[in-house]
Amino acid sequence: MTTTTITRRTLLKTTAVLAGGTVLGHVLPASVADLIAQQAAPPADPVAAIRAQMGATPIERLALADNLTMLSGPGGNVVVLNGADGKIVVDGFVQPAWASLKQALDAMGPQRITTLINTHWHFDHSDNNANFREAGAAVLAHENTRRRLSETHELLGMRFPPAPANALPTQTFADSRTLQANGDTIELGYIPPSHTDTDISIRYTRANVLHLGDTFFNGMYPVIDGGTGGSITGMIAAADRSLKMADARTRIVPGHGPVGDRAALERFRDMMVDVRDRVQKLKTSGRTLEEAVAARPTAPYDDPWGKGFLTPDQFVTFVYATL
Ligand SMILES: [Zn+2]
Repeated sequence: MTTTTITRRTLLKTTAVLAGGTVLGHVLPASVADLIAQQAAPPADPVAAIRAQMGATPIERLALADNLTMLSGPGGNVVVLNGADGKIVVDGFVQPAWASLKQALDAMGPQRITTLINTHWHFDHSDNNANFREAGAAVLAHENTRRRLSETHELLGMRFPPAPANALPTQTFADSRTLQANGDTIELGYIPPSHTDTDISIRYTRANVLHLGDTFFNGMYPVIDGGTGGSITGMIAAADRSLKMADARTRIVPGHGPVGDRAALERFRDMMVDVRDRVQKLKTSGRTLEEAVAARPTAPYDDPWGKGFLTPDQFVTFVYATL
């Protein structure tokens, strides 16, 4: 069974790219942005660099049910529900992976792609919206995803200009939406601001599978995008909300990392609560961000959580900045 989403090597390269930028200039003090930027020479165009690196990652397949497949590798985890009603796809990797993603979808059968669902606005999930639309799919997302994609944002040293009109969601909702297709019921629900203010959960009731997008990083410290409404408190609340939606048999797809279960999500929640409490204590006692980072409040968790997407210092920075 293959469950690897991004290889260790890619993650390390990705982390190097993420560390190389100017880092959340509008959220973080310049001194910390500089501190993190010193870890690696910033690439000329960080977005192009990370697109190319992620895009070169091979796609791996994992069957979640007879007609439900997870694809992982070149971006956030993708889930495809296939059948006579057409293919319904959640998230779409980065642009350079479009050809290989299309090939993987075509290999599942002749059904057309009816719908792409965005878990949230970030490029490693929504980058192929225009390609899906051109392939005839509707693009369904929370209304804030459409709004955020229409704006300019900075994240981890990367600058994102407004998406072109043909890359915007074609259908949006505010609270919830239910789709019936291919013998399953797909329940989409808005998650109050957590990783961003655009996140939704996707629940397949028959298959008992829950896709949580980037409100769940399985086994690694999560990105928290304070620039578009994210916060550590919101991330913890999102995990609590999602735990209520899962039973012991639910398979939980994270935005990044291998498929998990309720116990894995619980470990993620508990790690975040403890780190939040430690950083809050440091901040309340007047420690600066630099001092809080230097105190290494995540030390008991760094192996393995700090060996994935983010370094411990970056995670502490996100937590401190959003408290
Ligand atoms: Zn994200």
